[in-house]
Amino acid sequence: MEKVVCEICGKQFEMSEYEKKLRKCQWCGKTICFDCTHYMVSKNAGLHKDNNDVIRVCTECQPNVKEQAD
Ligand SMILES: [Zn+2]
Ligand SMILES: [Zn+2]
Repeated sequence: MEKVVCEICGKQFEMSEYEKKLRKCQWCGKTICFDCTHYMVSKNAGLHKDNNDVIRVCTECQPNVKEQAD
């Protein structure tokens, strides 16, 4: 059975659990598990003016931890 590994904490999951428990960070694209998933509101005024989308990010990409380089 194929395993999927959370790239933040290193936990392993069965491929069948992937849909339920693992996500991708929408910022850096890493595979992340539920515990390592954070949510932030994307305020990119350029591309999607009217969209304040909530995006999933990993622990490393959540705004509190990582300074946003501009
Ligand atoms: Zn994790
Ligand atoms: Zn990330």
